[in-house]
Amino acid sequence: MQFAESLKGNKIHNKSNLTFVRYADDFVILHQNINVILEAKKIISEWLKEVGLEISENKTSIRHTLIPYEDFEAGFDFLGFNIRQYPVGKHNSAKNSKGITLGIKTLIKPSKKKILEHYNKIEQTINENMTAKQFSLIQLLNPQIRGWSNYYRTVVSKEIFSDLDDLIWKRLWRWCKRRHPNKSSKWIKGKYFHSEFRQDGTGIRIRNWVFKEDNFTLLKHDDTEIIRHTKVKDIASPFNGDDTYWATRMGRHPELPLTVTRLLKDQKGKCNYCNLNFKDGDRMEVDHITPKSKGGKTEYKNLQLLHRHCHDTKTANDIKAEKEAKEKEDRRYEEMMEVIFIKLSSNIDLTEEEGKIYIDSYKRQTKRKKSKQGCTHNKSRVTGEPYEAKVSRTVLRRA
Ligand SMILES: [Zn+2]
Repeated sequence: MQFAESLKGNKIHNKSNLTFVRYADDFVILHQNINVILEAKKIISEWLKEVGLEISENKTSIRHTLIPYEDFEAGFDFLGFNIRQYPVGKHNSAKNSKGITLGIKTLIKPSKKKILEHYNKIEQTINENMTAKQFSLIQLLNPQIRGWSNYYRTVVSKEIFSDLDDLIWKRLWRWCKRRHPNKSSKWIKGKYFHSEFRQDGTGIRIRNWVFKEDNFTLLKHDDTEIIRHTKVKDIASPFNGDDTYWATRMGRHPELPLTVTRLLKDQKGKCNYCNLNFKDGDRMEVDHITPKSKGGKTEYKNLQLLHRHCHDTKTANDIKAEKEAKEKEDRRYEEMMEVIFIKLSSNIDLTEEEGKIYIDSYKRQTKRKKSKQGCTHNKSRVTGEPYEAKVSRTVLRRA
């Protein structure tokens, strides 16, 4: 977003036209101008390098949503979905914010790769269970069908769902035929496929060709109810602190639900690091502005709410800065000690500062000797900054 604001031209226009979507270590950047995309990629690479990560070149590519770009067909895949625009007549067309017809329509579908993967898995299950009981096969297939359909039910998939059901039906028919090579098709249908009737007394037949045995019925993708999502707008954060949503969500957390609510309100629903609104599904963490290890207290003025990934970045930068500062200090100390020893061995007077350092180092040495003799255990060691709102978490991994 900082980047969007830095672009030439109308700032509000640029910001509203640059879309950044991130999920775990996967992300998409959308913009109409190829140069903006290239620039964004550069900036992200540099930023990742700072935290010790890098963009995976063979997993990153530039696409156009409407026309083929370089070697790629139009559209792109993200999280197993394919997002692509299609030219259409004015009645089906999307309109821009000013109501002007664009002549295109954006469709989101399961990606081809994911459809194929899913179907191959089903086919494999059928092949591996040539001699299994019908109900066992149904029990193996149903969770696959249910899981996949539920994941993709928010996108346009009616056609894909029924295509998959057709393919599976064909595959199952072969499964039946192979088991009974000498039986007629009518016999096979009678044994494995049944009709379903309404249970309301009318006895009206709902459908034919249902693959079932006793109470085990094979699910159909096409039976999945398709649900449309509403996107949460970046500008209108639902978490302004008055919202009980996060409070209830964090209420499950053993620590500080009230802190989170109050911080959200103080920060107007925005992350203090990247300045973007917290959105549904974002992981938030409470951060100590001055780390506890440096004497920072757990009180409101020393706490801030950050995205988990922003917190990671901040922590990485903090650690880096701390390490660098310590190295610098160590170097200076070593140089001073060298000077001190040279001066002492040549009988030259020490400066006031050198004298202090020498006395300190002497004290430290005697202390260390004492503790080596066995009384102290080293419990006061400084640990890294503790994360208040962290239970278990994965570490950033390479894209
Ligand atoms: Zn953030």
